[in-house]
Amino acid sequence: MKRPPSLRTLCIHGGRAGTPAEAAHGALHAPLFNDTTFAFADTASLVAVMDGERPGDLYTRFGHNPTIRAVEAQLAAIEGAEGALAFGAGLAAISAAILGHVRAGERVLCVGDVYGGTQELFETTLKGMGIESTFLLETAPEAVDHALEGGARVVYFETPTNPKLDIVDIAAVSRVAHARGALVVVDGTFATPVLQRPLALGADLVVHSATKYLGGHGDITGGVVAGAAVHLAPVWHVRRRLGQVMAPEIAFSLARSLRTLVVRVEAQCRTASVLAERLAADPRVLAVHYPGLPSHPGHKIAEAQMHAFGAIVTFVVGGGASASQRVIEALRLVALAPSLGGVESLATEPRTTTHRGLGPDARAARGIVDGMIRLSVGLEDVEDLWADLDTALSGAAV
Ligand SMILES: *Cc1c(COP(=O)(O)O)cnc(C)c1O
Repeated sequence: MKRPPSLRTLCIHGGRAGTPAEAAHGALHAPLFNDTTFAFADTASLVAVMDGERPGDLYTRFGHNPTIRAVEAQLAAIEGAEGALAFGAGLAAISAAILGHVRAGERVLCVGDVYGGTQELFETTLKGMGIESTFLLETAPEAVDHALEGGARVVYFETPTNPKLDIVDIAAVSRVAHARGALVVVDGTFATPVLQRPLALGADLVVHSATKYLGGHGDITGGVVAGAAVHLAPVWHVRRRLGQVMAPEIAFSLARSLRTLVVRVEAQCRTASVLAERLAADPRVLAVHYPGLPSHPGHKIAEAQMHAFGAIVTFVVGGGASASQRVIEALRLVALAPSLGGVESLATEPRTTTHRGLGPDARAARGIVDGMIRLSVGLEDVEDLWADLDTALSGAAV
């Protein structure tokens, strides 16, 4: 029997039509077509592509461009999805997924802590268009079921969440959402397709900020929506109408990044778990949020639905905001920057960046305390990273 290719192999060869020798010039990789439009031999062929009766390349804003199609096929293979759509940013992907499936007068139920930009999108732009959102901080399936009594078109959540890495049970929440007729959209940015497969667990659409691990080198801004063709069709129309497509040059760079996705993420997870254990054992640290630690409230679910526990480690130092600020400013190897998922380690305080807009009370309600630092573990040597953290913690006298 033919062995299905593993994810590592799919990252490199997934989605490719035919063998390299069958490609133009025997190219190993899909070439970069920056073209904005494509020519036809006759009107009948143009109209057939225009009407969607025949696949073909036509106009890049539609995503009808060989470089964009190539990375989408690669992404679909990696995610185990029927299809994928590439966007200019994670938030473009998220907004198109919602606008493709929710009408004015309908509701989104947002479960657990969500990315600040997502919350802002729901509370301002989507609300202004008549799409209401309910934010349920509890993530237990029973709480979701109860909240759905009011009705919702879409149940939306992230797992692991930012910054405390809470874990939402994808299968259980999808079951209660489907029983109430809602569509399930999961933001899988923190886990990547390497660690977690939301579609296989019951979600209808998965979204990623490709700006993070998928791009992985801090030089790509992009987004992805993956799922069944029937759920992608309305999202494709929103992308076309709003002009949210990923640029061909970015698609080309993303295709290269994806080839190393598994090796990068696996190595980053190994380093993160060592750092999480050392921080948890360190008297200078008050708390460590990492799903790989048995003390983490989501540890059991994470063990069941993830292959590894991710490469984000969030920890709290004693002495509040002034102490975390001293630590973060004393780091030399780890850069003070708000993003995550790249080869270089980054650290940020949620109170100054990702959750700044919430204000102190809403942060406290989420357990986002002063003194908290979110560390995105890169590909540097684990001992070099530990030396940097250790020196910064000592120097800041926490
Ligand atoms: C960064 C991020 C986004 C937004 O992605 P952009 O590419 O910045 O638009 C959405 N969700 C999560 C979980 C993120 O970390």
